[in-house]
Amino acid sequence: MFLNDILQILKEKSNNKAYTVNNESYSYKQLYKYVCNIYHFLLKENINKKPIIVYGNKEIYMKATFIACSLAGMTYIPIDESTPKERVNEIIKQVNPDLSIGINVSKEKINEIMNNENLIEINDIYLKSNDIYYIIFTSGSTGIPKGVKVTYKNLDSCIRWLKNIVTINKGVIVNQANFSFDLSVADLYLSLITQSEHFIINNDTILDFNKIFEQLRQSNANLIVSTPSFIDLLLIDKSFDSKLMPNLKTILFCGEKLLKSTVNKLYSRFDNIQLINCYGPTECTFAVTNYYLNKNINYNENEIPVGIPKPDVKIYILDKNNNPVADEHIGEILITGESVADGYLGNIQNNSFIQYNGKKAYLTGDLGYIKNGNLYYIARKDKQIKYKGYRIELTDIENNLQALEYIDKAVVIAKTNKENKVLNIIAFVILKENIIKNELDIIKDLQKKIPKYMCPKIKIINSFPLNKNGKCDEKKLLEEF
Ligand code: AMP
Repeated sequence: MFLNDILQILKEKSNNKAYTVNNESYSYKQLYKYVCNIYHFLLKENINKKPIIVYGNKEIYMKATFIACSLAGMTYIPIDESTPKERVNEIIKQVNPDLSIGINVSKEKINEIMNNENLIEINDIYLKSNDIYYIIFTSGSTGIPKGVKVTYKNLDSCIRWLKNIVTINKGVIVNQANFSFDLSVADLYLSLITQSEHFIINNDTILDFNKIFEQLRQSNANLIVSTPSFIDLLLIDKSFDSKLMPNLKTILFCGEKLLKSTVNKLYSRFDNIQLINCYGPTECTFAVTNYYLNKNINYNENEIPVGIPKPDVKIYILDKNNNPVADEHIGEILITGESVADGYLGNIQNNSFIQYNGKKAYLTGDLGYIKNGNLYYIARKDKQIKYKGYRIELTDIENNLQALEYIDKAVVIAKTNKENKVLNIIAFVILKENIIKNELDIIKDLQKKIPKYMCPKIKIINSFPLNKNGKCDEKKLLEEF
């Protein structure tokens, strides 16, 4: 399985760059040293083999710890340090770890451990194929984040498939997403398995165009793994073109709808660029379909396919009674096969991981259809959205607002444009009687509970307009905003 290949690559101890962050590069040889040291530390300290929280941002110890955990047969849980403390504590409560790297083993301590010069090689890989490789927490509709358990077998299948759909060997792969999002799984492991350099665009840089473009230029990258939102952000600046990135061959998109406008701009700025649209939820290990865009096809706005399933996955389109519909008919996308994760951590009630035709399946909540073998994504059927590439349950925000003791009711709505792209998230709130609070007070309190990217615009109102059924009329609310 792929950890054998990765260990083999690390053991070659090459001086090629393995990881670059903040103008600092680390070779494969250095990475191997860090992994060895952390691996032996974990085997000694994590005797009960409980899952390990790995807290931080894009520091080298994050990647080294992920690899060390896996080789040592331990599940890791990445948490980005931008996550509010209350949410981190909620995750810790659910996981109940003995070791949290970056928390009860401080960053200084882990850096000290990994820099030990007495190299003890790694000879054994302890992770078994059905073991949980990682747990990634994602927005949960109840207001509490839910952990998706992905097995070694799931990830092995994903990485082998990815390696086949891109053509890169000893190149440079740009990372955009934080390691706590499953988008990053693609660049984390593709870079290792293809012996490439993993080039990090740092979070601090994400809002500073000059710095981003300087980093992109320096990266000399061949492949970017990104959400369409991030590429759209880069495209705002005219200098995002083949002069800036002459070796850029491929952009691998995943996570949200790829729009024709993005594709057209990329084709006009980069000659011969290969664009790949991938689709899939965290619950199915990064992605399950891929589609190579064709420069000569003039796509309709809603007709960019997400593509064909990976070979060990089967996709069904189901009607309301979970019966398959005919081709070109819209229904809910159901995924079966090797990518379907083990489920959620704990006893989270869900109707998503189900049995279908005697097989484990994931009912996505996505609406789509199949035409000429290609899957097309249409929209969500629930209150989950993508905003700037982030997966957000609107009821997660609602429940966290309602948990503030001075809020009586909250309704959270996503404002979209005609392409169904979310422009804004707006929370309409009614305060309890005799409470004096303004929008800023609410935002400050909310930011203690949910990540910044989930925080909506707040509008305090006195009552909700009701529709014929006596429910809150969301359309009317938006009109009034
Ligand atoms: P995440 O778990 O963050 O990867 O989000 C998964 C959800 O993102 C899916 O269920 C879809 O709703 C959406 N999604 C992922 N990839 C695509 C894509 N290529 N086109 C449209 N929506 C996508």
